[in-house]
Amino acid sequence: MARLFLIAGHGAGDSGAVGNGYTEAERVRTLAYRIKKLGGDYVTLADTSKNWYKTAGINTLTIPKDWQILELHMDSGASSAHGGHVIIKQGYTADKYDNALAKMLKEILPGRSNMIVGRGDLANVNRAAAKGYGYRLVEFGFISNANDVKIFNSRLDEIAKGVLKSFGISVAEDEPPLPKQIPGNPVNDMLLYYRAHCQGVGWLDPVRDGQVAGTVGFSKRLEAIMIDLRKVREKYPDAKLSAKAHIQGIGWVSYDNVEHDTVIGTVGQGKRLEAIELELTGVPGKNIYAQTHLAKFGWTGYIAGGYTSGTVGIKTAVEAMRLKVAQ
Ligand SMILES: [Zn+2]
Repeated sequence: MARLFLIAGHGAGDSGAVGNGYTEAERVRTLAYRIKKLGGDYVTLADTSKNWYKTAGINTLTIPKDWQILELHMDSGASSAHGGHVIIKQGYTADKYDNALAKMLKEILPGRSNMIVGRGDLANVNRAAAKGYGYRLVEFGFISNANDVKIFNSRLDEIAKGVLKSFGISVAEDEPPLPKQIPGNPVNDMLLYYRAHCQGVGWLDPVRDGQVAGTVGFSKRLEAIMIDLRKVREKYPDAKLSAKAHIQGIGWVSYDNVEHDTVIGTVGQGKRLEAIELELTGVPGKNIYAQTHLAKFGWTGYIAGGYTSGTVGIKTAVEAMRLKVAQ
């Protein structure tokens, strides 16, 4: 089993290729987060806020020599061009990881006649070779091809697992079960306050414990939410909340230590919030639950902390949210 060092291509203002309503930088980050989530400690995710090409980060990178670097990209070209492939340093022989990745891509994202290509003109390929690191760059299909994008989005988990399998990393136990949902109205005895920032409305008044933040039936996107844990902390001083929001055109953004004035999402940018993941610690025996009202779909069930409520990859706005702390 290898240890994987994962670089998401582009970023830091560079969208990479654009097509079919998506940017390469956002899509490869979404894939990178999924690989990291399923691969756990065997995967080290390189700082996704950085552009690893422009900052030449590999030149100053120090990782054990037996780790393997994988850089994620998507191709662009004529709208009919499709299929994924693996790029390695020109003159090198493909190793078992390259071959396994090529096999997986041929099954899931077919179209290229040469599944493994040697290149001498790519900066990160050369930088990694100069440092003696095992490295390959994978183009996960063409973002300019509608069908490749459809495959990428709908089979994201399979691709993420295929990557991990290619490096001998097992995912079976790490794969999260279906989100835990609680029917009806869970018992709760805490005062969790939260408020939504909505399209054309701005910040709405705070609500609490299962009340609706945002709007239902007005087709207004929810753009941001603030969650106030201060009442919870009166009972559980160690209560700590972290959050991840999937934001239109940006992708996943993490908020490590959410305070009452932490803006989860964006304000003034006209961007919809698409999904949220919350994680509450320091409250023994209880979890945080989020229910989202999605454009076109309506209410989801209550989703337990640590799982995604909302959608990724289908451009659907969260319009309202209910939160509660419960058993
Ligand atoms: Zn690229």
